[in-house]
This record gives sequence, structure tokens and C-alpha cells, in this order.
Amino acid sequence: MDDHQREIPDGGLFISNGFINQVGATNELPPGADEVLDLPGHVILPGLINTHHHFYQTLTRALPAAQDANLFNWLRTLYVVWARMTPEDIFVSTQTALAELARSGCTTASDHLYIFPNGSKLDDEIEAAREVGLRLHASRGSMSLGESQGGLPPDSVVESEESILKDSQRLIQRYHQAGPGASIRIVLAPCSPFSVTGDLMRESARLAREHGVHLHTHLAETEDEEQFCLSKFGHRPVGYMQAVGWVGSDVWFAHAVWVNEAEMEVFAQHHCGVAHCPTSNMRLASGIAPVQAYRAAGVNVGLGVDGSASNDGSHLLAEVRQAMLVSRVKEGITGFSLSKDPKRKLMSAREALWLGTRGGAAVLGRDDIGSLEPGKCADFFAVDLRHLDYAGALQDPVAALVFCQPRRVDYTVVAGKFVVKDGNLATLEEGRLVERHNQAARRLVET
Ligand SMILES: [Zn+2]
Repeated sequence: MDDHQREIPDGGLFISNGFINQVGATNELPPGADEVLDLPGHVILPGLINTHHHFYQTLTRALPAAQDANLFNWLRTLYVVWARMTPEDIFVSTQTALAELARSGCTTASDHLYIFPNGSKLDDEIEAAREVGLRLHASRGSMSLGESQGGLPPDSVVESEESILKDSQRLIQRYHQAGPGASIRIVLAPCSPFSVTGDLMRESARLAREHGVHLHTHLAETEDEEQFCLSKFGHRPVGYMQAVGWVGSDVWFAHAVWVNEAEMEVFAQHHCGVAHCPTSNMRLASGIAPVQAYRAAGVNVGLGVDGSASNDGSHLLAEVRQAMLVSRVKEGITGFSLSKDPKRKLMSAREALWLGTRGGAAVLGRDDIGSLEPGKCADFFAVDLRHLDYAGALQDPVAALVFCQPRRVDYTVVAGKFVVKDGNLATLEEGRLVERHNQAARRLVET
């Protein structure tokens, strides 16, 4: 995933102090090291980057009442359940989601936490994430537009704008790391056009820009949202973002499914990023984001597993596969024909991997992750291809990772440290985590 997209047979990395020193054929690397990891039969790729998620939702996956709903009904069903969460729930669900992500090759994850019931704080998530070992872009999400003001969420789960902004500032000052190799960054993330006011959007942007942190929100996810924006603000979603100052290279949007060509041009011109979440968009019948058109227009696109109550998994390598397949469905619906238009191309496995690595890095505003190159963070994952899942696919080992049904990865390394080793979590005891998580989920739903 360097600019030349080099693939190195019998290749290796030499790492020190959490960064990559050398990349090349194994026989060109220094002959020894403090620790040598020999991985015959494996493919090694830069760590995948998740650009959109809600870790806490791992507590409400496949909940019967929300299984067959579209976005607005799904949210109305779940807001009241999420309102019962405690700091312990935030902690344990963060570890579950990150463990799952790590075991699917992810090394950097962005999370969007926008509900803080019963004394929960973003600090609970950050503390939990530290124990797992992935890099985290923790979004201080927010909801301030309750039902009584014409918003979607019940008044009981929204916060005052004053306390949202005060807490946002506290979190930036306490946790945000700006430099290369950052393990924690803070992001300001009012939840969506239908759950916050225009004032909070403007004020969040002002605060973020004062401190040099990025901005994130859900946008143009469904047709219902488009109708809401037109009737409440007199703008389509992208026009509304322009009106509240939410365009720029420091802004990325989750989903961006319902956009027209002129709006794509706005994203391209202002270097806004898009977090493409194909599984969630299918699960909630939201639509298919025009990813190939975005790429042709020069828009930065990364991948997000989203969910976990709308995916209902956090397997990022599976999301790479999903992105490739869904983009082909989109091409099919719009009349793709190789015989009529031989210049058009289907999204390839390598392009899908690009979205999951370099694309994600660009969306999060980072140039220190996303590829295996000297000077970049020592973040990578490895998959042993000598398994049933890949039998017969070894003519093209890189493409095999995307075309074949992905298994869990064998190694995930962040800043030169194992998070997954020999196919197991290296930083947490998985069995205990699952038990604790299921207890929390049961308490939440049965209360
Ligand atoms: Zn989301």
C-alpha cells in the first residue's frame, strides 16, 4: 500500500521503537533482532483502519425488536435500551468491539459514542481501549435535539449544549495526541442532523478548529433524513453541512449514501472524507453509497464496520470484501456492461484493500499509518493462507484475502506490539470478556 503498491514475495519488516525502519526482501534486512517473527505461508498487510463504529452497540446485536427495521424505527426501538447503559457497559462493550476488530486485522479504530447515560463518559471507552492496544480516534458524540424540539431521540437521552461543549473541551485537553504515532485522538461528533441543532454543529466546528481536532457526523444515510433536512432546515443534507460550516479536510461523514453529483463535487473540492459502511447500509435497507463515483471525483473514502447493532459484527476484513461486492452490485444496477464500455472497471480486491488502509488513513487525516513503509507506524496484520478457507486460491494470495470468505487473522501488531498472536488475543482473556459482555447485555435488555 505504498504509492507504488509494491508486493514483496518473501518480504519482511524491520521495526524499532514502534515504527518501521526497513521494508524489503527478507535477505536484505538485518540478520538479527531482539525478537524475530517468522511467518512462512502468511500474507502481511498494513493494519486496517476502521473509520466508523459504535462500540457500545455490541451489547444490542440482533435484538429481536430491531432486526427488521429501517434506520429511524431501529433507532426509536434502541434509544430506550441504550439509555440504561452504565460506565461498566461502555467499558466492556469497548473491549469486545476492539477485540473483534483486532482479530479481523484492524489496528486503528474510530468510534462514535453519542449517548452518555447514568454517569457514562468517553473516558470509560478510552480507559478500556488502552488495555486492548489498538489506536483509537474517540469521538465525543452528542445529541441535543430531543423529540419535544422536533428531533428523533427521546428527551431523556439528550444533553444540554453547554455541557456537551464543556466536556468536549475537557476531553481534547486531557487526551488528544496530535503528533505522529498518536495512540489516542479526540474527535467532535454531533450525532446526526436529526438529533442536534444547527447551533451545536457550528459551535462544535468552532471548538474543534480552535484545537486542531477533526469533526465527524452521520450524513445522507437515508431518504428519511433527506426529507427531515429539507423540511426542518430547508436544505438537503450536504447543503445543510455547508450552511453550518461543516466542510473541510477536517470533516468526515459516515455513510453519505444519498448524494448527487454536485454534492460529490462539494466533498471533493473541500476534501471532506466519507466512511463507507456497506454492511450497515444493507442491514438497514439504507441504500448503496456511490463509492466508485466518489473515487472518480477524487473524494477520500475509507471503510467502517459501523454497528454493532446494524452490522452485527466488527470484522473489518469482511467489510473490505463486502465493499468490493456491493460496489459490483451498484455497477450492475446502473447497467454496467464490459462489452459496451470496456474502459469501465469493477472494484478490484486491491482497490478494496486500499479503501481499508490508505483510504481510511486519509479520511482520519493521518499520514503515519495505512502502508508498510519506512517511517510509518509498525501496524500490520498477518493471515496464514495454509487453511481450508484459502485452499486453491494461492495463485494470488493478496486477492485471496478479499475474494475468499475471511477467517480471523493470525497476528495483529500495533506499534510493534502484539494485540493478536497465534490467532489469540494477546492483551485480554477472550473467554472472560465474552462472559462479562453477555452478562452486561442481558442486564441491559432484561431490565
Ligand atoms: Zn453510525
